[in-house]
Amino acid sequence: MRTVLITGASRGIGAACAREFAEAGYRVALNYHRSEDQANALCAELTAQGCEAMTVQADVADSAAVTRMVDAVKERFGAIDTLVCNAGIAMQKLFTDTTDEEWSRMLSTDLSGAFYCARAVAPDMIRAHCGCIVNIASMWGEVGTSCEVAYSAAKAGLIGLTKALAKELGPSGIRVNAISPGVIMTDMMQSFSVEDVAALRDETPLCTLGTPGDIAHAAVFLASDNARYITGQILGVNGGMVI
Ligand code: NAP
Repeated sequence: MRTVLITGASRGIGAACAREFAEAGYRVALNYHRSEDQANALCAELTAQGCEAMTVQADVADSAAVTRMVDAVKERFGAIDTLVCNAGIAMQKLFTDTTDEEWSRMLSTDLSGAFYCARAVAPDMIRAHCGCIVNIASMWGEVGTSCEVAYSAAKAGLIGLTKALAKELGPSGIRVNAISPGVIMTDMMQSFSVEDVAALRDETPLCTLGTPGDIAHAAVFLASDNARYITGQILGVNGGMVI
């Protein structure tokens, strides 16, 4: 049986990924940062459905905490063969108003977090000559957007990390891909007004916004053997917003 560790699995896209990987027959380790109750409720839901699931608290921006998280998962489930780096924060702010702390927090969560997690799971994957990493980037990492300079930079970095890591780990039998979501209706979109959300929908060629399940389906596909020849790719799941 395969084991997936999903960061930021308490809510939104990460929670949808957890449900989808459980459905696909994986053991699921659910990382959360602050939303302990939601993570525990999801864990109970998956367990009731017959999935082997566990929760594990960690701030992915903290390298030592990531090491402890991976050790805890390995102790319970054995080696991790699939990693979904989903944990992330967003921020809408003028570039000139962004503080050093905000910039640093964005980079350490949305970019360094994936680096720490991949580095912590890679040795076992290399030993097993098999494994799969799926990073959740953003279309803004591909094309950039106004008032989200720090977020766009972090996600652009995650795209670079994905491509470079795919080259480095490919000879070890490990695939590394990213999903680049468009506008997905989760808590992350709460700071947008109804008008802004409607405008984003109108700009989307498929004329509808995405759901967490849309991203989860893509993640399970990329982790599956059906994607065995796919690595280093950035899969846009965005309704055609960025082509
Ligand atoms: P969300 O609903 O706000 O959920 C964010 C998740 O990330 C939560 O589970 C949260 O955990 C976790 N998280 C945040 N900081 C963390 C940290 N330091 N350590 C560990 N976990 C942390 O967001 P979402 O929309 O599902 O976004 C998930 C990912 O998709 C993010 O990387 C985001 O950038 C990306 N994305 C989203 C959209 C969109 O339109 N929604 C578009 C493109 C990309 P706690 O609740 O436990 O603190």
